Amino acid sequence: MKSLWNDKEAQHCKDELALRVYSSRLLGSNPELVLHGGGNTSVKISEKNILGEEQELLYVKGSGWDLATIEAAGFPAVNLQHLIALAGLKSLSDPQMVNELKTHMTSASAPTPSVEAILHAILPYKYVDHTHADAVVTVTNTPDGLARIQEIYRDSVVIVPYVMPGFDLARVCAKEFERQRNDNTRGMVLMNHGIFSFADDARTSYETMIELVTQAEEYLKVKKAWSIDTKKSSKKLPADKLLKISALRKQLCDIKQSPMILTTTCNDAVYSFIERDDLAVISQQGPATPDHVIRTKQLPMLGNTIDQYVANYKKYFDTYSSKVKSPASTSIEMLDPVPRVILDQELGMCTLGQSIKDANIVRDIYQHTIDIIQRSTMLDEFQALPAKRIFEVEYWDLEQDKLRSAGSKPEFSGEVALVTGAASGIGKACVDSLLARGAAVIGLDINKAIGSLYDSANFCGVQCDITDSDAIAAALEQGIMLYGGLDILILNAGIFPASLTIEKMDQQTWNKTLDVNLSANLKLMQQAYLFLKQAPRYGRVVMIGSKNVHAPGPGASAYSVSKAALNQLMRVASLEWGSDNIRINTLHPNAVFDTGIWTDEILKARAASYGMSVDEYKTRNILKTEVASHDVAELAAELCGPLFAKTTAAQIPIDGGDQRVI
Ligand code: ZN
Repeated sequence: MKSLWNDKEAQHCKDELALRVYSSRLLGSNPELVLHGGGNTSVKISEKNILGEEQELLYVKGSGWDLATIEAAGFPAVNLQHLIALAGLKSLSDPQMVNELKTHMTSASAPTPSVEAILHAILPYKYVDHTHADAVVTVTNTPDGLARIQEIYRDSVVIVPYVMPGFDLARVCAKEFERQRNDNTRGMVLMNHGIFSFADDARTSYETMIELVTQAEEYLKVKKAWSIDTKKSSKKLPADKLLKISALRKQLCDIKQSPMILTTTCNDAVYSFIERDDLAVISQQGPATPDHVIRTKQLPMLGNTIDQYVANYKKYFDTYSSKVKSPASTSIEMLDPVPRVILDQELGMCTLGQSIKDANIVRDIYQHTIDIIQRSTMLDEFQALPAKRIFEVEYWDLEQDKLRSAGSKPEFSGEVALVTGAASGIGKACVDSLLARGAAVIGLDINKAIGSLYDSANFCGVQCDITDSDAIAAALEQGIMLYGGLDILILNAGIFPASLTIEKMDQQTWNKTLDVNLSANLKLMQQAYLFLKQAPRYGRVVMIGSKNVHAPGPGASAYSVSKAALNQLMRVASLEWGSDNIRINTLHPNAVFDTGIWTDEILKARAASYGMSVDEYKTRNILKTEVASHDVAELAAELCGPLFAKTTAAQIPIDGGDQRVI
């Protein structure tokens, strides 16, 4: 492991806190040291308060911040003397400890200090760095872990036996530090947990971390327990994998009574692990560090049938529900410690989360857990914390406290939507409205710009010609492997060909218009049907129709016919799919000018042909109002929400009121 310290960059840091931010980010940039919000760092600084009195403060990582991207605002300052005094108490409950941390900060609006703040306070060094480094926990999670750590570090680290994170751990660390420290002391190893480094300057503290972790890596290399023999897997995903994935998601969501994202990872590293004969033993041992339990919640579920997972998941859920007498205001789904990882013989690894971000965090943590277990077993055998200790972390007061304050979820949280024609106009506006409501969105468009339209894990843009069945199938595969299913379908893509009278209509224009505006939607509906049927909160489809359905215009036969036929398709689908609780409705927008089709020149020309100004032309409706893509998108999103839960086969105009339609 290499030090990333760069003197030039460090010179730009204007004070001690800025250096703390800098070296914290260096730690955070290495996933073998710190993963997704794991690890924490601190710096002790003397400052004058508002009365001009000098006070010692501990700036320590605040909750909700990630070391990789932390800023000065991510370090709340806490009264150092008070923290040291707290460490002298015989006991302090977790809620009491959080209260003391929160009431001794210098800023009321700063984030809650890390639960390991007292531990940072008692270490008598300016800078303290703490990680759950893979190499160190790999060594500590073996039967002779303690002896091995002693062999690696001799007297250069203080060794602390496993204690659950919180006040007791801080006390034990304080005691062990006093007892074991000597002139060579450079760090502290917490068994089955992680490692601390410290120094009076930022660089030494950071580079000590790198050196200590490198020593553990070197040890593993010498013991031939470093390079993992990842076999090229011969496994092929089953043909019905997507249906299996979405059925699995539906059944787990049904137990939880809340939609979730389920992401599937099937790489060689995952398969090499799953194919091990001893999988049932090594995967059920326990987590590599308590930090992982907080996010992965439970040991992975193993098996190869959906029924096995469903029974297992239900057992966890029922056990939990019977234990927690939650007040009415506390949503059980925010607290449940049900499993988040599934290791399936066919599918590989599936990870669950309220959002794709959560599911990806669990995925990343478990991929590191796989490496740790693989290496521990090469060294000797993987021996994690006993089950009882895991349980303590799950019901950890602090964690529950954090979850309780998480607040309410957005309306479509855990749901997956697919939007066609998503790169511009009404389609893009629909993506915005759905993302704003918490959905994960698969956006299809023939324009390849769709791929980079949003820099968000919640969006998966796929270039796709929707008249091509194979391209639709490939897009659905990509989306469902990533998000686990399909709940909402917005059929928006369409073309508006140049004006042609029936007399002048050519076959090519006619066919192409019907292909894109009508037949492509049939193909997509056919392929999406079985997934919509498995939507935890029932499938919803919105078609973007047109005013032309009820008020056609001359010269637009192909367009009007295609939209009218699409409308009829919606009506038939509502009849056929109603018994599956799939709702399907149409919006009829008119005169939406903020789309790709309308340029300023075209608008001016059209307005002039009616003898109107552009503004008059845009608002020529009963309400004299302009209809924007965003207005249509918001109504489309609402059609998928609870407000319209009892509406199907409806046609709703969004046109400011059109005399011809009325
Ligand atoms: Zn820790």
